[in-house]
Amino acid sequence: MSMRVVFLGPPGAGKGTQARELAREWGVAHVATGDMLRDAIAAGTALGRQARTYYDRGELVPDTLVVGMLGERLQAPDAAKGFILDGFPRTIAQAESLERVLKDLGQELDRVVFFEVSEPELLQRLTARRAVEQRVDDTDETVKNRLHVYATQTAPLLEYYRNRSRLVAVPGEGPIDAIRGAIRQVLGR
Ligand code: AMP
Repeated sequence: MSMRVVFLGPPGAGKGTQARELAREWGVAHVATGDMLRDAIAAGTALGRQARTYYDRGELVPDTLVVGMLGERLQAPDAAKGFILDGFPRTIAQAESLERVLKDLGQELDRVVFFEVSEPELLQRLTARRAVEQRVDDTDETVKNRLHVYATQTAPLLEYYRNRSRLVAVPGEGPIDAIRGAIRQVLGR
């Protein structure tokens, strides 16, 4: 089976950690839109300058910027074998754009893996991460905003992908290795 998957879940669910490891294990591209935006902002590119104000507030960067960036990334040679999308799509509109991008490439999404984590655990993890990574979007106010954005704009994707028979779920809490095992299992690896 090809490996074209989305990792879906709230900020702090552990998608990045798992996506990085499993992409290496499977020899597919790890496509993290948050990482790409952080790079663009740090490099001061035109995209980075436009994205910055949204990013710093914990708001979604406009689709016109993110969808173009993603489309280009998926055309890179290393994504031809497969990919793990981490942090995209985040809205129904982005999911629809993704379908169009993949259709143009003659590809289809195989599975969407949902990371289930309770709210108290999330808050604790995001606060802990603040001390380690010092991301500008890990302040109290923006963390709250990112969780709100997730609940209102991203969570509707669960139903979207359930209706399309793409959705599988794994527990996002517990030992990292156990979670990784659960992901391999739901993807038949
Ligand atoms: P992340 O590292 O995935 O938590 O993303 C950090 C921030 O980057 C988010 O709070 C958004 O401001 C921005 N971002 C990342 N991915 C997207 C996306 N698919 N659409 C819009 N904004 C995004």
